[in-house]
Amino acid sequence: MNRRDFLAVGIGSAVVAGFPAIIGKAASFELPPLPYKDDALAPVITANTIGFHYGKHHKAYADNLTRLAKGSEFESMSLEQVISTSWAKKNTAVFNNAAQLWNHTFYWNSLRPNGGGKPTGNLAEKIDEAFGDFAQFKKAFADMTVSQFGSGWGWLVADKRGKLTVVKTKDAEVPMSDGFKPLLTIDVWEHAYYLDYQNRRAAYVDAVIDKLLNWEFAAKNL
Ligand code: MN
Repeated sequence: MNRRDFLAVGIGSAVVAGFPAIIGKAASFELPPLPYKDDALAPVITANTIGFHYGKHHKAYADNLTRLAKGSEFESMSLEQVISTSWAKKNTAVFNNAAQLWNHTFYWNSLRPNGGGKPTGNLAEKIDEAFGDFAQFKKAFADMTVSQFGSGWGWLVADKRGKLTVVKTKDAEVPMSDGFKPLLTIDVWEHAYYLDYQNRRAAYVDAVIDKLLNWEFAAKNL
């Protein structure tokens, strides 16, 4: 990953450095509201998990970033600018909290109650083109996500030519820094699944893919 790749994605785009324009332009680093009630993803993801994951972990990233940015060059930037700038300048503390604030908002939007099933239209065609068929896509996405060693994220992304693929990132890292445009993500930090699935990461990932993925969100990002 390098700074040139990160910035190249943003050229000609209305948003910064390849970030989908879904999260808004607020200059503050507030915790965005959950797009559904805390029990709406149960039983795949319970209200207990959401209580800790959204209410404690996600909130802590927002609080930490607000504290770290105060009085610094980051205070007046958009969240997307903070992420690309802190990455380029190797400011790990700011990057980790800013990227995790963004990643989690993207994750909650990647899920929906009664989600899953198959995409339609252009997105379905691009999935067939890239993976062969939907069953092979599901296996590729699950395998890539489950295989992330330690904390991180699995992503469905479009590459620079618009071809879909699956990638994983470690810790707080984002696929935009490799020039990819994210369509969907699955969090595989243990806090995302341990209360509901304990060590069964693959069972969590399969259930999310089958029952919660928000294909309308993915289509909007494409
Ligand atoms: Mn998480």
